[in-house]
Amino acid sequence: MRDDEPAAGPLPYVEVTDEAYAARAAAGFTVREFEFAVQLSGRCPRCDHSTTSTLVDELYRREASVAAPDPGYRTVLCECDADHPSRPAGLRGCGAYWTLRLEVEA
Ligand SMILES: [Zn+2]
Ligand SMILES: [Zn+2]
Repeated sequence: MRDDEPAAGPLPYVEVTDEAYAARAAAGFTVREFEFAVQLSGRCPRCDHSTTSTLVDELYRREASVAAPDPGYRTVLCECDADHPSRPAGLRGCGAYWTLRLEVEA
């Protein structure tokens, strides 16, 4: 069975999200908490390359206070090292993003 193989070449870079991404990432990502940062690693739910994101606490708090109604939610971007066609210079990953619920201690 090769039905799941991509039809032609790597996925192009597209900034997209999908409800399924969050569910798959929540199930498959490893969350490591450090004193001032949270590191998320796993396979991107879109391109299936391994990706690691580091959320720094200072940034996390600043963004949370401005934008997010619930500070436990963070937007995570795919940051895989693979090439994706049509990707703007200076960016990484395939463009997929999703929301991750972090357990934050009050
Ligand atoms: Zn990728
Ligand atoms: Zn990706």
